[in-house]
Amino acid sequence: MEIAQAAKEMGCQFLRGGAFKPRTSPYDFQGLGEKGLQYLKEAAEKTGLLVVSEVMDTADVDMFCDYVDLIQIGARNMQNFKLLKAVGKAGKPVLLKRGPAATIREFLLAAEHIMANDNDKVILCERGIKGFDSTYTRNTLDLAAIPIIKKYSHLPIIADPSHGTGRRYLVEPMSKAALIAGANGLMIEIHNDPENASSDGAQSLNLTQFREVQRHLNKLIGRIDYDNKLIKSEKEKEAVI
Ligand code: PEP
Ligand code: MN
Repeated sequence: MEIAQAAKEMGCQFLRGGAFKPRTSPYDFQGLGEKGLQYLKEAAEKTGLLVVSEVMDTADVDMFCDYVDLIQIGARNMQNFKLLKAVGKAGKPVLLKRGPAATIREFLLAAEHIMANDNDKVILCERGIKGFDSTYTRNTLDLAAIPIIKKYSHLPIIADPSHGTGRRYLVEPMSKAALIAGANGLMIEIHNDPENASSDGAQSLNLTQFREVQRHLNKLIGRIDYDNKLIKSEKEKEAVI
C-alpha cells in the first residue's frame, strides 16, 4: 500500500509486482503466487492504479485475467511461443519484455506471435541485454533499440532502467536517456525498504529517492507546471503547454 500510494501520488499509472517470479536460483524467493496477485489488485484498486504482473505458465493465464490489467511476459519467456499464444488468445493487453540475448528482430517477431493470435494490444519493454562487462551493470540497456523500434514498428515501447542496469544510482540518468530517446514510458522498481527486499533491492529506489527521481522525470516530460505542481490529466498538461 505504501509503495502504491507513493506511485500514485507521483503520477504513475501502473503498479507492477512479481507474484510468480522467474529466479535464477531455485533457493531465492519465488514470489507469493496468487496471494501476491490479490495484494496487488487490492493496492491498485485502493489507489486507482492499474496492475501489471508476470505470468510464467500457460495454466495460469485465465487466473491472471481475474487480477491484472496488463499481463507481463518476462525476458526469460520472450520466446516461449506457447505462452505468447496463450496471452494472445486471452485478449488482455500484454507487456512483452525483451529477452536478455534477443535481437531486435527476434523481439519484434515475438510480439508478432501475440498479434497473430488476435491480440494487437502489445507494449514492448527494453530491459537490457547481456553485455560482456557485468562489473558495473547487471545488463546493458540498449537505448538505440528504442528509436529503432519506433522506426520499424507501430508498437509502444517502454524502458526498464532498473533491471537494465541493476544499480539504483543508474536509474535516474538512464530513465532520462530513455525518455529522450523516445520511450513511451518507464518501469522503475521502488521499495519501502530496499535493503530488506526479497528481490532486486540493489536496483530499487527507496520512496524518498523515488519521489525525487520521479519529480525530475515529471519535469522532463512536462508533467509538472511552473509552480512544481503535478499535472494529472492530459487536459491539464495541454493547459500548461
Ligand atoms: C521483472 O520485470 O519482474 C523481471 C523479472 O524482469 P525481466 O524479465 O526483465 O528480467
Ligand atoms: Mn525485479
